[in-house]
Amino acid sequence: MYESDLQEVISKLNIIIGAYDKVRIVDPVNKQVINLRDNGTEGAPEQCFAFWKKGQVCENCISMKAYRENDTFIKMEYSEEDIYLVTAFPIELTNRTVVLELMKKATDNISINVNGDDASSNFNALLNNLNNRAIKDSLTGIYNRRYINEKLPLDLINASLSDSSISVIMVDIDFFKNVNDTYGHLIGDCTLKSIANTLNRNLKRDNDWVARYGGEEFLICLPGAHLENAKEMAELIRKKVESTPIDCGDLEFFVTASFGVSSVTPKSGASITLLIEEADKKLYEAKRNGRNRVEA
Ligand code: GH3
Ligand code: MG
Ligand code: MG
Repeated sequence: MYESDLQEVISKLNIIIGAYDKVRIVDPVNKQVINLRDNGTEGAPEQCFAFWKKGQVCENCISMKAYRENDTFIKMEYSEEDIYLVTAFPIELTNRTVVLELMKKATDNISINVNGDDASSNFNALLNNLNNRAIKDSLTGIYNRRYINEKLPLDLINASLSDSSISVIMVDIDFFKNVNDTYGHLIGDCTLKSIANTLNRNLKRDNDWVARYGGEEFLICLPGAHLENAKEMAELIRKKVESTPIDCGDLEFFVTASFGVSSVTPKSGASITLLIEEADKKLYEAKRNGRNRVEA
């Protein structure tokens, strides 16, 4: 593909290139660096996350954020040898949006007091912690809605590339309003933490994840799982929720939750919206059919 406006952007970058250690344009959805040849055609694709030498997609990809929220984002990130300050901002071209990444080595330019024997690993933990704040729910500690928006599209693309299924489970606590009304909002909050824990603890595979969708609703994503697998998982988790006491201070009580499961096969090519809408519909059915149950 010949991209004159992209070429124009690249030619303008010459002014700032010297001020950074690495300047590049990425397609965050496909996780690729965009390199243009002199004749304006696109060069061989190169994975953007390879730069960080972690062997995996960045947990806190700010280029995806910049792309989705049409705003500039900044983070600190470390590779094997160095710490970088990374700025990502979206550029709208005529036919698509790309993201400009500016990376500045910060290893020698920042000073942070880290005590202890292993200062570098402490610092990495500190960075991880800071970066996690943007994608973790502050109350429950599991992933938040923003993470769903960023990760689900990637998992869906990965599923279609690897020709595998992907399933989601929408979870909603039953009669949660009663918990608040009976015990107060603080116990309500504690209940949310406890349920989030139960959901998180019972995931089976490395790539499975759970996020707080909002209020007392959670979304579980099971990459690679087809509908039957996901239904089994939902049933297993439903039983765990039902049988795990909520332990809040002096109180001990039980709550149940309802589950809606949806799944896409590689061929169906469904969208994220459809996947979530279907899970929502099934969840509504589970509520209507008496709660504390799974519908798929
Ligand atoms: P259903 O079985 O139909 O799902 O009934 P429900 O009572 O669980 O559902 P409803 O939507 O009527 O009420 C949800 C309640 O969740 C209302 C809201 O105040 C409460 N809630 C939402 N977010 C939080 C939170 O962060 N903390 C607390 N304590 N309560 C919350
Ligand atoms: Mg609800
Ligand atoms: Mg509810």
